[in-house]
Amino acid sequence: MTLARFQMCIDGQWVDALSGKTFQSLNPALAEAWAELPDAGEDDVERAVQAAQKAFESQVWRSLSATARGKLLRRLGDLIAENKEHLAQLESRDNGKLIRETRGQVGYLPEFFHYTAGLADKLEGGTLPLDKPDMFAYTTHEPIGVVAGIIPWNSPLYLTAIKLAPALAAGNTIVLKPSEHASATILELARLALEAGFPAGVINVVTGYGPSTGAALTRHPLVRKIAFTGGAATARHVVRASAENFAKLSLELGGKSPNIIFADADLDSAINGAVAGIYAASGQSCVAGSRLLVQDEIYDEFVERLVERAKRIRIGNPQDDASEMGPMATAQQLAVVEGLVADALAEGARLRLGGKRPQIDGNGWYYEPTLFECDNHSMKIMQEEVFGPVASVIRFKDEAQALAMANDSQFGLAAGIWTRDLGRAHRMAKAVRSGIIWINTYRAVSAMAPIGGFNNSGYGRESGIDSVLAYTELKTVWINLSQAPMPDPFVMR
Ligand code: NAP
Repeated sequence: MTLARFQMCIDGQWVDALSGKTFQSLNPALAEAWAELPDAGEDDVERAVQAAQKAFESQVWRSLSATARGKLLRRLGDLIAENKEHLAQLESRDNGKLIRETRGQVGYLPEFFHYTAGLADKLEGGTLPLDKPDMFAYTTHEPIGVVAGIIPWNSPLYLTAIKLAPALAAGNTIVLKPSEHASATILELARLALEAGFPAGVINVVTGYGPSTGAALTRHPLVRKIAFTGGAATARHVVRASAENFAKLSLELGGKSPNIIFADADLDSAINGAVAGIYAASGQSCVAGSRLLVQDEIYDEFVERLVERAKRIRIGNPQDDASEMGPMATAQQLAVVEGLVADALAEGARLRLGGKRPQIDGNGWYYEPTLFECDNHSMKIMQEEVFGPVASVIRFKDEAQALAMANDSQFGLAAGIWTRDLGRAHRMAKAVRSGIIWINTYRAVSAMAPIGGFNNSGYGRESGIDSVLAYTELKTVWINLSQAPMPDPFVMR
C-alpha cells in the first residue's frame, strides 16, 4: 500500500524533519501503516519555537486587535465545518475511533472556535479601588508568549481545539505536538488555520515521538506555558521540564470515574449511561465511567441487563457506520488492557463478560467489552485506569457508602450519579470530589462547560468562559496622580 505523506507546519511552511527522518502512523483497524510523517528532532523543535517566538513579537500578530483575532478564530471554525467529513474520516483512520463518533466530534468542533472567538475581545481588566488617594491603578490581561500544546491520541482534534482556540484568542502563539499515533488531523487543522489567515508562525505543528520531540518542546526555555493532556507518568516528565523555566502548566490527566446508580434511578437510562461511560470509544476516554457502583436492591438486575446489552455491542471496522465499538488505538494500549485484565483475574475479580480479543477478520487491535464483578473496592481493577473497554462493578448499601467508595480514588476527573431524588443528586454532586459531575447523563461536553480534574486527574480547566484567562498574564499598572515630589525613597509607598 502507498503511504500518505505528511509534512510539518513550521513558520507557515510545510517541511520535513531536518534530519530527513520519518515515522509511520498505523491504522488500528488493520494494524498496518497508512501514513508517513516527519520525525522532528531537537533542531526542528528549535525552529518551530523560534518561529512562534518571532510571530509572538511581530507586529503582524501583536498589532492585531482582539476583535480581529476573534474573527480569525470564527473563520477557522467555519473552515472546519466545511471540511468536517474529511477531518472525521482522517481521524477515524488514524486512531481507530468510530466514524459516527468522529463525525459527532468534528461536527461540534466549530462551536469551540466560535464560542472562544466571542471571548477574545471580552478580556476586561479592572480599575482598582485603591486605598491610596494619590494613586490610580488598573489591570490588563496580557498574552503569555509561546504555548506548547501536547495532545494524546484518543481525541486529537477536540483536545487540540480546547487549547488552540483560547491560546490564540488571548494573543499567544503555539507549537502543537500531537501523539505519534494520531497526528494527521492536527496537521490538517494547521492547514485550515493558514487558510483562515492566521499569520505564519502563530500556529506550528511538530510531529514525532513523545520522549524526543515532546520532551525537547516542553523543556524549551522560550515556552512560557504548557497545556498537556495525557497520562500521569508523562505528566511527571512535563512538570519536571517546566521547572527549568517555570513555564505555566495545565494538566488534563486520567481518571477512574465512578458511575453511581441508586435503586430509584431510571434503569433503562442508567444502563445506557453505563454503556456510554465505558464501552463508547472502546473505553479510551479520560472520563470513562470505569467504576460502576450499584445499590444493593437493583444490583443483580442491573448487572444482568448490562451484560445482556453489552453482549449485543457490534464490534467492527470503525469506518463502518453500523459499528458500535472499534479497535484500541495502539498495539501498546491493547497490551496494557490485556495485562490489567490478567491482574484482575489474578486478584479474584469475577469476569462476567469479555476479557479477550473478539473473533474478527484481520489484524486490528480489537478487544471485547469486558465486565468484572468485585467484592472489594481496593482491588487494582477498581483503582487503576485501564483506558480500554473494561468496567468493574461493585455493590453499595446506602448513600454514605456510595460516597465513600466514589471518593476512594487517586483520581477525580468525572462522576455519574443516577437517581430520581433531587436532594440526593445535589448532596452527592457537592460531596463527590471530581471536576465534572453528570446527573442522569454521561459524557456530555460543551464549549461552555469547563473540564478538568481534582487530585491526580490534574490541574487547570479547559473550555468555558474562563478558558481564555488561563492563557493570560495579569498586569497591574500604577499611576501617580499627585503633583508632589516623590517622597522618601526608602519607605514603601
Ligand atoms: P501519554 O502517553 O501521556 O501521551 C500524551 C502526549 O504526551 C503524547 O503526545 C505523547 O507523545 C507525549 N509525550 C510522551 N512522552 C513525553 C515526554 N517525555 N515529554 C513530552 N511529551 C511526551 O498519554 P496517551 O497514552 O497518549 O493518552 C492517554 C492518557 O491521556 C490517559 O491517561 C487519559 O486518561 C489521558 N487523557 C486525559 C484527558 C483529559 O482531558 N483529562 C483527555 C484524554 C486523555 P507520543 O504519543 O508520541 O508518545
